[in-house]
Amino acid sequence: MTETLIDKLDRPMRDLRISVIDKCNFRCTYCMPAEIFGDDYRFMSRDELLSFDEIMRLVKVFARFGVEKIRITGGEPLMRKDLHTLVKRIREVPGIKDIAVTTNAIFLVKQAALLKEAGLDRVNISLDAIEDEVFQQTNGRGIKTSPVLKGIEAARRAGLAIKINMVVKKGMNESQILPMARYFKETGDTLRFIEFMDVGNHNGWQMDEVVSKKEIVDSIHAELPLQSVDPSYFGEVASRYRYMDGGGEIGIISSVTEAFCSSCTRVRLSADGKLFTCLFASEGYDLRTLLRDDVSEKELISTVQAIWTGRKDQYSVDRTLGRPLPEKKIEMSYIGG
Ligand code: SAM
Ligand code: SF4
Ligand code: SF4
Repeated sequence: MTETLIDKLDRPMRDLRISVIDKCNFRCTYCMPAEIFGDDYRFMSRDELLSFDEIMRLVKVFARFGVEKIRITGGEPLMRKDLHTLVKRIREVPGIKDIAVTTNAIFLVKQAALLKEAGLDRVNISLDAIEDEVFQQTNGRGIKTSPVLKGIEAARRAGLAIKINMVVKKGMNESQILPMARYFKETGDTLRFIEFMDVGNHNGWQMDEVVSKKEIVDSIHAELPLQSVDPSYFGEVASRYRYMDGGGEIGIISSVTEAFCSSCTRVRLSADGKLFTCLFASEGYDLRTLLRDDVSEKELISTVQAIWTGRKDQYSVDRTLGRPLPEKKIEMSYIGG
């Protein structure tokens, strides 16, 4: 049996997010605004992206450090050819208990069954509005909700667990909070509201565009009474609420109005193999060069250990306390949330 390295870390590392591609078929205004990510935007070439073999080398190292959850993201991860073959390989790694994909769902109609068969546990599907006119604006490509709703249906038929993620931004889609809550209460899917975050450098983030957790909960509670639910594990980022009539749950990810840096157990790998210990970091650690220099497993392990034990990230805390923040940050489409 492979030796575990969990006791070599001063803080647990549980959740590895792997971005497999930086491209996307959407141009959500809060993530990849079309005026910046236009036709002449240079996305990564095939060669720059980590290969599935390279990703697997790293997944095995992270699993030894105690990572149990893998989330595959992007850009739009389903645009990476044969993603199910990666899922199948991750499933075979000892210690990995949960594999999820975050997606805009457009390609789920084709891929949901293959992904489930390969061992995928869950999908987090992004949908920011239930009314077409609002959704067409937010996704920046005029796409209606029906292909996303069909993707959700395909995931359900395939037997995947489903959560719906809605980024809420003032002036963009706060009108959709209640319609989305009503719709997904009916279908029984857990809907999670995400506060609009100041990731990247291009989404023009302003604090007054954030709809706070309190505002979201209050507006739903007024029509559909809610009660809070205790977190189910250390480091759970969504605050959970259940409908008092027994009609399911919602979650709120309040990374702007409530900082949770001290319990952050996440590590992120970009599509070109940079390791980030914070969503708001300016620089990542280049693991791709190590992989392509064919360094030993021992060297990979000591590099990851040094990065994790040396981390001092607390961006959300610093923002809350009004401390100086880095000027340049990585883009959400590059690191994948
Ligand atoms: N394309 C996939 C999708 O949209 O689900 C995966 C990648 S996307 C970058 C991952 C998550 O980040 C999505 O749930 C998206 O809504 C969220 N996101 C992107 N920009 C954000 C922002 N500025 N604030 C909060 N969440 C954001
Ligand atoms: Fe694409 Fe997801 Fe970003 Fe929207 S949030 S532009 S779907 S990567
Ligand atoms: Fe973790 Fe950085 Fe978010 Fe804090 S700001 S919770 S350190 S990712």
